[in-house]
Parts: sequence; C-alpha cells; structure tokens
Amino acid sequence: MKNIAVIGAGTMGNGIAHTFAQFGYNVQLIDVAQAALDKGIATITKNLDRMVAKEKITVEDKNNTLNNITTYTSIKEGVQQAALVVEAATENVNLKLKIFKDLDEACPKDTILATNTSSISITQIAAVTQRPEKVIGMHFMNPVPIMKLVEIIRGYNTSDEVMDFTVDLTKKINKVPVEVNDYPGFVANRILMPMINESIETLYNGVAGVAEIDTVMKLGMAHPMGPLQLADFIGLDVCLSILNVMYDGFKNPKYAPCPLLVNMVMAGKLGAKSGEGFYDYSESRKAEKVAKMFS
Ligand code: NAD
Repeated sequence: MKNIAVIGAGTMGNGIAHTFAQFGYNVQLIDVAQAALDKGIATITKNLDRMVAKEKITVEDKNNTLNNITTYTSIKEGVQQAALVVEAATENVNLKLKIFKDLDEACPKDTILATNTSSISITQIAAVTQRPEKVIGMHFMNPVPIMKLVEIIRGYNTSDEVMDFTVDLTKKINKVPVEVNDYPGFVANRILMPMINESIETLYNGVAGVAEIDTVMKLGMAHPMGPLQLADFIGLDVCLSILNVMYDGFKNPKYAPCPLLVNMVMAGKLGAKSGEGFYDYSESRKAEKVAKMFS
C-alpha cells in the first residue's frame, strides 16, 4: 500500500501524517480549513527540523518526508487513491458520522477506514457505512511522532483481516499496537480518566493542593507528569467529554465527572490551550517550568 489519507490537520492529524510520510507512505492530508493545513505543515516542518538538529534523521529524510505529503481541502479529491484513511478530525459524534458517510461514498470499495477518536464508539461510526467490517479504531497518542503506543480498536463488525492488516501496518511505522475491544474509553482512557477525575476530586475535597497531588504521583508513583498537569495538557474540556462518554456508556456513577472539572470547563479554564487550568500558562506554555517550582 502506498497511499494513506489523513482527515484533519490539527494536533493529532499532523503528527499522524508526519509519521506515515517519514516511513515512505504517500500521505494525502485533508482539512476543511486551508489555515489548518498551512499550520499543520509548519508544525511538521518544525518537528522534522528538531529531529535533524538531534541527528535522529538527515536533511534528506526531512525533505523526503515533506515531499511525501500533499494537502487537500476536499475529502472527495484527497481519498481517490487511498488504501487507508485515518480520520483525526474534531471529536464530535455528528461530525464523525457525517465524515464516515462521505468517506464511504468517496473511497474505493476496498479502502480501510480508521478513526483516531478518543472515546466515540467505533461500532456506531461503522454503522453509517456500507463496509462496517473495514472500519477500525487507530488511537494514536500525543505527540504522535514520539509516542510508541497505538490502541487498535476492534469494532463489533471489524474483520480479522482488517485487524491483522492494521496491527501489521502499525509495526511498520515503528509503533507498538495493542488490540482492544470497542467499549467506552477503550483501555487508555478508561484507566487514565478515572485517575485524573479522582485527583480533581481529591483537590475538590480539600485533601491536598494542586502541587501536592501532582508531586505525590510524580515522586511516589514515578509518573513523569502529575495527573492535574496531564489534564491541563490533554485539555479539561476533552477530559470532561471523555468522562461523559464513559458515564453515559456504562451508566455507572464512578465515571461521573467531578463538579470542579465541570465548573472549570464552563468558566473557560481548559488547561494549557486556554492559558489557565490547574496551572497558570499565561507567561509560558511550558508547564514543566511551573511544575519544577513545586517539585
Ligand atoms: P484538533 O482540534 O487539533 O484538530 C482537528 C482538525 O479537524 C482541525 O484542524 C479541523 O479544522 C479539522 N476538521 C474539522 N472538521 C473537519 C472535516 N469535516 N473534514 C476535515 N477536517 C476537519 O483536534 P485533535 O486534538 O487533533 O483531535 C483529533 C482527534 O484525535 C479527535 O477525535 C480526538 O479525540 C483524537 N485524539 C486526540 C488526542 C490529543 O491529545 N489531542 C489524543 C488521542 C486522540
């Protein structure tokens, strides 16, 4: 297979495009917004420059990677030759259902359709297509060019052939695939989000402050980053929406988002991206600097 289309050029989409292109695939990077495509290519270039500076790749590798990426603002034009599509558009269920309907119509009949969704059901997405056996989850981690894990999510109808193909492809781009079934939160977020929610609950109950909670988890549990700092990086709105998906999906109160998280999101305190979450990012977006002050 040569052609892989990536839908969405945001945080995850540009990382996914970068990674496939670096391993020699022709990537069609598609976004509705030309500005997002320009920003995506600028980010990929900056990240490749950093890899060249660290002598992880050569200048020739960088140029080849960039040459392997073509940008499009139309799904229909971008997916004509695609053997695989990896969708990494905004996390919104109606948007994803619409994109997959369009993809099903526009792609060749053998094209495998993958989604990078953090929490939406693969089975639900597959159900709007005429090829549910060819729909699968490929949940990359942020930042994609660096993080090794890809959760490979088997929807209710995903075929063994498509699972095997996706696992194999993931290994070819030097990542580690882990096969999981399609239930709310999959594995990564089902375990991570309750931990983040409990750390917010611990703060909310006045057991300890932000710095103390993060320090306990960093120095006591050897986590590279405290859960509140991690929540700031993921985005508090994203954490809230994943917890709500699990709460709705399992109907179990243990996934109910902490009222403090709900309040912070309503107040527009979304973490690093909004300039404030559990930490203050107003002078620098590097939360490590803030965290160092407390550790
Ligand atoms: P983002 O907001 O950075 O980027 C989303 C991009 O999708 C934007 O550039 C937007 O213009 C584009 N888009 C919106 N509608 C589109 C359409 N109809 N066609 C083409 N492009 C469209 O979001 P992100 O953080 O990159 O997240 C993308 C997906 O990856 C989501 O499903 C999210 O849950 C998942 N994810 C995110 C992370 C993370 O840490 N950010 C980690 C794992 C998975």
